[in-house]
Amino acid sequence: MPELPEVQAHAERLTATCAGAVLTAFVPCTFTALKTARPLPSDAYGLPVLDVGRRGKYLLVRFESVTFAVHLMQGGRLVEDVKQSAKPRGGQARWVFADGRALLLTEQGTERRAGVWCVPTASALTEPPLNRLGPEALSLDADGLQRQFTAMPMRVHGFLRDQHAIAGLGRRMANEVCHRAKVSPFSNTAKLPPAAVASVAVAIHEACSEGLAYERTRADMSSSADRPGGVHGRSGEPCPACTDTIRAVTYSGYTVNYCPTCQTNGKVLADNTTSRFLK
Ligand SMILES: [Zn+2]
Repeated sequence: MPELPEVQAHAERLTATCAGAVLTAFVPCTFTALKTARPLPSDAYGLPVLDVGRRGKYLLVRFESVTFAVHLMQGGRLVEDVKQSAKPRGGQARWVFADGRALLLTEQGTERRAGVWCVPTASALTEPPLNRLGPEALSLDADGLQRQFTAMPMRVHGFLRDQHAIAGLGRRMANEVCHRAKVSPFSNTAKLPPAAVASVAVAIHEACSEGLAYERTRADMSSSADRPGGVHGRSGEPCPACTDTIRAVTYSGYTVNYCPTCQTNGKVLADNTTSRFLK
């Protein structure tokens, strides 16, 4: 899933190409693409795109009157619609501009969870769905993170993935942040010593900066295999910091990758799905 670095860099690319383009039509391709009833997308007809911003993992296509909050979920993409075919493959919604160009939200696969929320620009951040998000990941220093950790006791990895706790990170960044901070993904947020909290705060900024720097070199959004990192998706490979073998614990829907030497005092956690790496 695209996370903060990918979504932020893509927002910047879309601002560069779309700012100023005047909207003439918004056309959902499926019944489920538009998640809101009011305000109407047509409130933005005749208005130019101000910019494309980001909150958490949402892209915000902003007009003076309304903002389209777009969530890409796992396989969604928001791209220039070069072909503008009548039935685009995986098409979810299309924005048509007066200069003849268009943007297309696509989602490959069968999940169909990507979507568009049309909200008043003036109150976009304080209405659903954006009002449910926790503080921006890059807005938290060590003190701010400590407050959130204390308020929401849970596993560190779960906290980092929870958009209500901290917005913008996901499975991949949770793995990378814990590894950088040399913190066990299974530690409880409320029990971490202050030095470890400070390390997590620094690791969030470093991992996001590295991802963003890479993503800004690209003309399009990366796929997960291209993204820089040390542990995510690297079960069985040597840890880049200490050469110990990277381990995995797999849950339904996501995998926690970690280095025992760097993060769990050498302890290998049981995981039957990756037992082949433990032999
Ligand atoms: Zn290591």
